Amino acid sequence: MGGNEQLIKGLPLNFDNIKKNVKQALDKFALRIVRKQFCPLCLCERLYYRKHWDISIFTRCHIHNCYLLSTCTKCNSKITFNKVILNNCECGNKLSTSSTTNVENSDLSKLLFQKLYQMETSKIENECLIKLQQLDIDLIIFLILFLSFKISSQLYNLNFAGFHSSIDYIYNDQVISEASSIFLNWPHSFYTFLNEFKQKPKNNRQTG
Ligand SMILES: [Zn+2]
Ligand SMILES: [Zn+2]
Repeated sequence: MGGNEQLIKGLPLNFDNIKKNVKQALDKFALRIVRKQFCPLCLCERLYYRKHWDISIFTRCHIHNCYLLSTCTKCNSKITFNKVILNNCECGNKLSTSSTTNVENSDLSKLLFQKLYQMETSKIENECLIKLQQLDIDLIIFLILFLSFKISSQLYNLNFAGFHSSIDYIYNDQVISEASSIFLNWPHSFYTFLNEFKQKPKNNRQTG
């Protein structure tokens, strides 16, 4: 964890406890095990499985500014590693020809990619993301995962079970982008989030 330990030490929390929880959460939820995902346009350029597609909070392709796909656009079945490298779904769909949906920005994915490969792709302009960029990657992933759990429990009216149950839809783009948008206007947006979350009656959180 390296640098993260310093950061966590600075917080008024039980360090040993937090460290264990962070590690457990990352082990369990940071990587996509069951459902894989891919960018059709990346696949079209070169046919291989990009490692960063396995990061659970990576929902957009920063190169092509589009959503990654985790189901076949033709038959709706789950994407697997084999389907991607064979560029073929059992329904006959060639994955690299799947249509894509553009997104407004893919800054979070860009930031994650840069941290992962220690490579500057292009300039990140959002100031808060630049600050986030100074943290270690595992801590960034943990923070966004943590907020995603909170947000998805709110959106889908779940009891927040902490980092104990694995629910696939917490990784969807809406949840991740809401979680990362909390950083975009830090700390104001974070306080707003906390207040809204506190005020919502427990059974009525799905209205968002
Ligand atoms: Zn792409
Ligand atoms: Zn298919």
